[in-house]
Formats: sequence, C-alpha cells, structure tokens
Amino acid sequence: MIHSPDMTTFTSRLRYQGQLVFDSAHRIGAERSLAVDAPDLPVLRTVDGRPYIPGSSIKGAWRAYTESVLRTIQAQRNLGHALACQPISEELRCLPKDKVKTLKDEADADKALRQASCWTCRIFGNGQIASKVLIKDLMIDEASFLRTEVRDGVAIDRDSARAADGFKYNFEAVPAGARFEMEILVENAAPAELGLVMIGLNSFARGDILLGGAKSRGLGWCHLDREMEKLEYVTSEHLLAYLLNRDDPDAVAARAVTEAKTREWLIAFEEAIQEEVNHAQEAR
Ligand SMILES: [Zn+2]
Repeated sequence: MIHSPDMTTFTSRLRYQGQLVFDSAHRIGAERSLAVDAPDLPVLRTVDGRPYIPGSSIKGAWRAYTESVLRTIQAQRNLGHALACQPISEELRCLPKDKVKTLKDEADADKALRQASCWTCRIFGNGQIASKVLIKDLMIDEASFLRTEVRDGVAIDRDSARAADGFKYNFEAVPAGARFEMEILVENAAPAELGLVMIGLNSFARGDILLGGAKSRGLGWCHLDREMEKLEYVTSEHLLAYLLNRDDPDAVAARAVTEAKTREWLIAFEEAIQEEVNHAQEAR
C-alpha cells in the first residue's frame, strides 16, 4: 500500500514554476455574454480585461489525464479501483457515503479517509480530503498577446447531423503563441506520489494534455516550456534552513531538484504499483 502522508504536519513541498505555451488558439470560456457588441461566447478575463486560466481548469485536465492513465494500469493488473475511482458513481467512488460515515467515527478520521481513498483522490482531493496539488490562476504574459480573435460556429443538430436551423454563434479565442505563467505547489506528497506528479508534468511538457473548449476544432494545444522550468523541493529535514535562510546558497542548493531526484520519484511510483499488486494478491 502506498504511504500517503496527511496534511497535519509538514513533510515536504514541491514548487514548480514555468511557462505554458499555446501552439494553437485556445478558449477557456466565461458565461454566455448578453452584450450586443460582444461575442456570444467570450473568453474568461481578469477584472482588468486580460485573458487568464483558472488553476482549476489545469487541475481538471491534469486529473482527467491521470485518471485515464491509472485506469489502464489498474485494469491491466487487476487492482479494481485502487488507483482511480469513478467519482461520479456512488458505488464506484473510493469513499461512498456509508464508508465516510464509518470512517469518520475512527480516532484518526483524516488518516483513515486518506488511506481509504484511491491514488488519484489522495493527490487531487475529493469531498473528504484536501488536494495535495495546488495550482495558482495563470496570468497571461502580455508580451505574447495582442488581441483575441472571434470565430464563427454553427450548432449541429445531433439527429440530422446538419446545421440546426439558423443557429449560428460566434466565440472568442486567444490566438496561438500565448504564454502563461504557471505555478504549482505539491504539499506533503510521498516520493511515489511525486512520481505520479512528474508523469503529469512530463505529459504537459510533451503536449499530451489539451486545454479548454473547441478541441474538436483544433483548439487547446499547448506545452510546458522546459527552458523556463524551475523546481524546488523542501523536505522536513531542510524546513528550518528554508525558513531561516531562504536565500543562503547552501539552502538554495539543498532545494534544487536534480534529474536523479525525479528518476527516484518515478522509480518509487513504479515500486508502489508493484506493492499494490502484491497487496491485492495477498487479499485474494
Ligand atoms: Zn477516488
């Protein structure tokens, strides 16, 4: 069974900073606009009018991707729903209501709820346990953006597969080339969990995860710029040095994440899967 520290004491913190670059146009939509001079479907903007991406949009796409990968692994190895549950189904989610009720009566309820959760929920959270991954809203790099574009869309009638009568609309999109500052914190993740986080970050870097709406029309392609990446890792062992001498060269060096470190995390992830397989076989 994977060891998943809870959130009551500091065990570790991984900070990622980098840039998300769009290779195609994209749209992260706001509510439908009723203004006459505005597109029917505007993009989401900050109060001062700049497009932005809510951290929750990235997290949603990241979680969905992680679930799809873990569902394949768990099916190949007969692990039931240990790695990724079905959060929308009461029977197939890792913490159904009656189980929550029983676990909440235990002395260390938080720990019990976390241990009973699937790997995906332990990292991304569910109704009962906090997420270990926190993503800041992404602000656009103004140098990479001039103005949005408006595209026409036609609503397709599902039955006839032809354009629904007179139902045209237009939508706003941010053109290709837009760059966004990305900042992520991963709190109290075990090495195996950090391996899973690295798999996600590597997938973003390869451009395997698309973001936003109108993907079937070619929108939403993006990748993380590896040149701009900064990873910092603080463990409980270095916590005091971090708090007292944040900028001291030794403290900075101690926080640096080497290639070897990320390999260690990936290996820990692989080993945790094997442990889960052994555990499942013993239980049978
Ligand atoms: Zn779950």
